[in-house]
Amino acid sequence: MAPPETLRIAVIGSGPAGIYTAEALTRQESQPVTVDVLDRLPAPYGLVRYGVAPDHTKIKGVAGTLRRSLEHPNVRFLGGVEFGRDLALDDLRRAYHAVVFSTGASVDRRLGVPGEDLAGSVAATDFVNWYCAHPDMDASRFLLDSEEVAVVGAGNVALDVVRILAKSVDELRHTDIPEPMLEVLRASKVRRVHLVARRGPLQARFTAPELRDIGRLENADVVVDPAQVDIDPNSEAVATAARAARTNLKYLREWADRPRAERPRSVEFTFWRRPVRLLGADRVSGLEIEPTELDDEGRLRPAGAPEVLDVGMVFRSIGYMGVGLPDVPFDTASRTVPNDEGRVVTPEGTPLRGVYVAGWIKRGATGVIGTNKSDAAATVRSLLSDLPDLDTGPRVPVEDILDQRGARTVSYSDWQDIDTAERALGESLERGERVKLHAWEEMYGAIGS
Ligand code: NAP
Repeated sequence: MAPPETLRIAVIGSGPAGIYTAEALTRQESQPVTVDVLDRLPAPYGLVRYGVAPDHTKIKGVAGTLRRSLEHPNVRFLGGVEFGRDLALDDLRRAYHAVVFSTGASVDRRLGVPGEDLAGSVAATDFVNWYCAHPDMDASRFLLDSEEVAVVGAGNVALDVVRILAKSVDELRHTDIPEPMLEVLRASKVRRVHLVARRGPLQARFTAPELRDIGRLENADVVVDPAQVDIDPNSEAVATAARAARTNLKYLREWADRPRAERPRSVEFTFWRRPVRLLGADRVSGLEIEPTELDDEGRLRPAGAPEVLDVGMVFRSIGYMGVGLPDVPFDTASRTVPNDEGRVVTPEGTPLRGVYVAGWIKRGATGVIGTNKSDAAATVRSLLSDLPDLDTGPRVPVEDILDQRGARTVSYSDWQDIDTAERALGESLERGERVKLHAWEEMYGAIGS
C-alpha cells in the first residue's frame, strides 16, 4: 500500500522512551508524521517525574529536553487516557497507522522468601512512587516508625531509597516532595539504615556518581566493614572488574577508614548477605540474612549460619518488572514484550503488524534515562522500514472513540495548568522551583483554575 500523506502514530506512555520515540519520529524527514503521546496520568514524563529521586535535580532536568520534544507542532499529549480501560488495541488500530508501547516497568521483583508480605515490608517501587507523589499512592501510606530498617539490593534505586531515609528534612525541603510526605519524613524515627547486598562491592550495580552521593550525606555516618572491602588490590577480581566497580570500591574503602562523626543517622553497608526470611507475627520485627559467597562458576552459595538484623521495616529494592498489556504478547520470564528490534512478535515469532515497543517494556529495567534515546531510535527505524507493509488506509479521529468511552482527556495546556499550580505552590511555600500536587483530585482541580 502507498504510504499515507501523513502517518499517524500513537505512543503509549509519556516517559523518556515514549517521548524519545516521538522525537525520533518528528526528526526523520522521509515520512510526514503526527504523533499522539498518550498517558494514563494527567502529567507527562513518566519515570523522570515519578521515578527519579526528588533530590536528583540534575537528572530531573532532562524533563526540559523532553518538554521541547512534546511541544513539537506534530506531537500531541493526551493525558488521562488508559490503554485497556479507555482504548483497546483494536481502537488504536482504527485511529492510528502504528502504535508504539513504551509503558516501562512499574512493579517490583519479588524476593520469594517467607514474610515478604508482612506489614513493614515495602516494595521500593511503592516507596519511590510515594516520595515522587504518584497520584496512586496515598500520602498516609507510610509511617517511618522504626529506628532500624533494611534496604535490600545493591542497585541505584536502593541508593535512592537510602538517601531519602537518611537525609534530614532540611536537606529535602527544597525538593518537590509534597508537604504531607515531607511531614512523614520529618516525623521519621529511622536512625540506622542497613543496605543489604547479596554479593560483594565489586558485583554491586551502583553507578559510581550515585554511590559517591552517599558519602556526602550531611545527616548520616556511612559505615563499611573494613573486612568487606579488604580485597587484594592485585587480585584478578579487582583487575577484571569494570571501572565503575573499581571506583565504587575506592569510595567504600574511604568510608571504611572514616571515623564516625556521630551524626543522627547511619547508613551501614552489609555485603555478602542474602535475605532468607522476614520475621514477625503481624509486622516485620527482623530480617534473617544468610552469609554468601560465589562458587567457581560465579553462582551464589551459602557460606555460614544465618544472622538476624533487628529491623522494623524492610525496603525490597531488587529491580523493576514490566506488566503485560491487554491483547499484546508478553514474555512472563523476562517480563518484557517479545520483539524483534522493536517490532512486537507473537510467541511463534510472527510480527504483529503496526505494533512496536520501546524502553523498559522492550528490553527490561536496565540502563540510564539516556539509554532510551538510542533504544527508541532503533524502534523508529524498524517502524519506518516496515512502512510498505503497514495498513495505511484511512483512520478515525481518536477523539471520537474517547468521547464514546466518556474518557476525560488531559491536554497539554491542561497539564500546563497543573505545572503552573505546582510552581506557584513551590514559591508560596518558599521551598523551591516546584512542589508537586499529589492526589488525583488536586491535579484535576488545578486544570482551568
Ligand atoms: P538493578 O540495578 O537491577 O539492581 C537490583 C539489585 O537487586 C542488584 O544488586 C541485584 O543483585 C539485587 N537482587 C536481585 N534479586 C535479588 C534477590 N532475590 N535477593 C537479593 N538481592 C537481589 O535495579 P534497580 O536498582 O531497581 O535499578 C533499575 C535501573 O534503573 C538500573 O539500570 C539503574 O541504574 C537505573 N537507575 C538509575 C538511577 C540513576 O542514574 N541515578 C537511579 C535509579 C535507577 P545481583 O546483582 O546479585 O542480581
